[in-house]
Amino acid sequence: MPEGDTLYRTATVLREFLQGRQVTAARGRADGAALGRVVGSRVDRVEAQGKHLLIGFDNGTTLHTHLRMHGSWHRYREGERWQRSPSRAVAVIEVPGGVAVCFDAPTVELLDTRALALHPALKALGPDLLAPQPDLDAAVGRLAAPARADRTIGEALLDQTALAGLGNVYRSELLFIEKVDPFLRVAEVAPEVLERLVATGARLLRANANDPSRQTVPDALGAQPGAMGTVGPRGPKSRLWAYGRVGRPCRRCGSLIRSTTLGTDLPRRLYWCPDCQRAGAGAQLAAPAASKS
Ligand SMILES: [Zn+2]
Repeated sequence: MPEGDTLYRTATVLREFLQGRQVTAARGRADGAALGRVVGSRVDRVEAQGKHLLIGFDNGTTLHTHLRMHGSWHRYREGERWQRSPSRAVAVIEVPGGVAVCFDAPTVELLDTRALALHPALKALGPDLLAPQPDLDAAVGRLAAPARADRTIGEALLDQTALAGLGNVYRSELLFIEKVDPFLRVAEVAPEVLERLVATGARLLRANANDPSRQTVPDALGAQPGAMGTVGPRGPKSRLWAYGRVGRPCRRCGSLIRSTTLGTDLPRRLYWCPDCQRAGAGAQLAAPAASKS
């Protein structure tokens, strides 16, 4: 599943390509959205909301796509060869000189723009951590809501109705950076730790918003191979603390990174350091039970 920063970049690219332009042709799948309705209208808005992508047209309609695991948006110049089979295209929007194509997205719908606010999936979204001024307090509040009290913090961070934008990579990275046991129940996590997780999540998404080579390990560390004795050679994997590093030494303590699947609705692979994130790390102090007699 793409992270919020991927969608943010997709929106940026499509905005440059589509916004202000008139649609010369458009089509969806035969059994899908009737995209022919937008032909002749102008694109007036392209934006990401969490992992949802919205393309607004000046005829009062908005194309809503959600990419889930395998979907992606491409743009091509006129006559350029597509990188995926046309049979996998679920939305095609042609403008003078080029075409934007959405492949393999399970959610493709053309909505009345005025009704967007009522859309169940969009309405349910938690605060978008990539919004210009994200409401981090509200995100912490939603994360800590009673409905999520018994879920693990590792699962809750992926719940887009609590906070929108975090995906599987950042989930592992955040918990590592803040030294939190991923298996703690949300109710057990110290309030200030929840605040730090949300703030760090927003910071990482923002820092990577314009750079497709996602990075959570600061340059200063990567630039000093040998420092701490655990920093490996530079490369894609050296840009992350824990994600994808199962069996390799923790960059902080040298213990071997572990991995398991976590989540009941949608199990996703989690990576963590058993020492930096030992059982109970990040928990609030136990309430003094029966301290007075
Ligand atoms: Zn460690």
